[in-house]
Amino acid sequence: MAQQTLRTKVETYRIDKKCENCKKGIMYSTGRGITQWHSYWEHKCDGCGHIESYENISYPYTEYVDVKNKNK
Ligand SMILES: [Zn+2]
Repeated sequence: MAQQTLRTKVETYRIDKKCENCKKGIMYSTGRGITQWHSYWEHKCDGCGHIESYENISYPYTEYVDVKNKNK
């Protein structure tokens, strides 16, 4: 049986997390994670070096949104 596939045009967004300490820098995942009940991912600010861990998410991440049909 042939597999049915769909092709949808999407717009791509990168979601960045602003540093809550200096309000200027961007938080980047250091790749280090702590897993207890949930996963915490360590992030470091590229501006002030502030370190913070976020639960179950790592920044930046990519989001896809369907491109709306503008002719409608
Ligand atoms: Zn900062």
